[in-house]
Amino acid sequence: MAAQECTHLKHGRHFREALLSASEDGHHKCVKQIIADREKYQDNLSGKSQGPLWQGTLDKALNRAAKGGHLKTVEILLLHNANANSDDNVQYSNRPGISYYSIKTPLLWAVEGNHTQTVAELLRWHADPKTEDLEGLNAVSLAAREGHIESLEVLLQAGCKTNWIDSRGHRSPLMYAAGMESPSQC
Ligand SMILES: [Zn+2]
Repeated sequence: MAAQECTHLKHGRHFREALLSASEDGHHKCVKQIIADREKYQDNLSGKSQGPLWQGTLDKALNRAAKGGHLKTVEILLLHNANANSDDNVQYSNRPGISYYSIKTPLLWAVEGNHTQTVAELLRWHADPKTEDLEGLNAVSLAAREGHIESLEVLLQAGCKTNWIDSRGHRSPLMYAAGMESPSQC
């Protein structure tokens, strides 16, 4: 099997580094194997809890897999308790109607890359489309601004609205979409 030869699996006990690297590369078989290897290692240590460090690694790995649009890797990470609403940074805000600020969530990464299947999968796992990136764009605004019509369609089918005003830009997705047709781009 090709997966057994991959350098991702020569991790020794560097499970975290290996998981991040395999997730970024979209090697879902490696990701699965690394998670299993670590579980076996943890069992032998008798400490069976996931631990905050490992959870953070799973979350970070999900962000990287989503960024690359690696659907199978995203699915495996979600099935192993990666948080669909994790983010790349921890800047929380409790503004009404907004979950928290972040650099980017897996959903925002997937939207930015126009990885529609990954977008749909993350929405199925209750990724919050209203979470905003550091610029203040939610998933719908980001899709609109980038002109990613396919991702926009997936978001709208999932119940997102084109009138969601974001908290910092104070603009709706429709306004971002209109901005794309500014004279400078003609
Ligand atoms: Zn690999």
